[in-house]
Amino acid sequence: MRKKIVAGNWKMNTTVAEGALLAKQICFLAREMETSAEIIVSPPFTHLESVGRILKEEKSHVALAAQNCASTESGAYTGEVSVNMLKELSCKYVILGHSERREYYGETNEILLKKINLVLAAGLHPIYCVGEKLEERESNRHFEVVASQIKEVLYKLRGVELANVVVAYEPVWAIGTGKTATSDQAEEMHAYIRRVIADKFSSYADQTPVLYGGSCKPSNAKELFAMENVDGGLIGGASLIAQDFAAIIKSF
Ligand code: PEP
Repeated sequence: MRKKIVAGNWKMNTTVAEGALLAKQICFLAREMETSAEIIVSPPFTHLESVGRILKEEKSHVALAAQNCASTESGAYTGEVSVNMLKELSCKYVILGHSERREYYGETNEILLKKINLVLAAGLHPIYCVGEKLEERESNRHFEVVASQIKEVLYKLRGVELANVVVAYEPVWAIGTGKTATSDQAEEMHAYIRRVIADKFSSYADQTPVLYGGSCKPSNAKELFAMENVDGGLIGGASLIAQDFAAIIKSF
């Protein structure tokens, strides 16, 4: 049985106080529900300490993720946050390779490989995002694009390391646009991702959680999560409303 995961990516939203309230609401709703899914919240860096404290105080099983980390261990890198700093704040996961990071901050597969290696070396779990842009899908290059994002990064790991990686398929054209991949489109790509992973890591591919991200919301989560190779979701907008996030988690 593969692990099921629902992770909320808050992006650059909420004040520290609003984030604390949202974390408390999510802990409350998580306590009320029965779910086999691991629940993760990923607030901005500035909120990690307070949200992490709330998750502990509320004795919730909600795990903490950072949205990024530096590609170097420590030193003179103004404005960067190292993976050891995140570990100290009880982060279990780090989201890496989100399309917004690739697009706006020039993160290449090469940089992402460095980050993944640091995250794994620190004993944390990367949530590695892959996904094609609209023009890449329209020109039928979506499989090729996603395969290269996997091969240039995950293929460089050892199998035992891959066992600690979560993959998130996020078609860029579906992120924050209200357009969702159909459950068939998601399943087709998730099954493909698993096959590409299996080509290199035959004994690990079956265990790797592959999450769907891109306008996943209470109204479509059930259909998406029912797909054989969809192991949960990476949720943006809908994770900022505790009730919607909880409804998505309950869609399993
Ligand atoms: C995301 O950016 O990870 C995401 C899935 O966003 P949204 O759910 O808002 O499309």
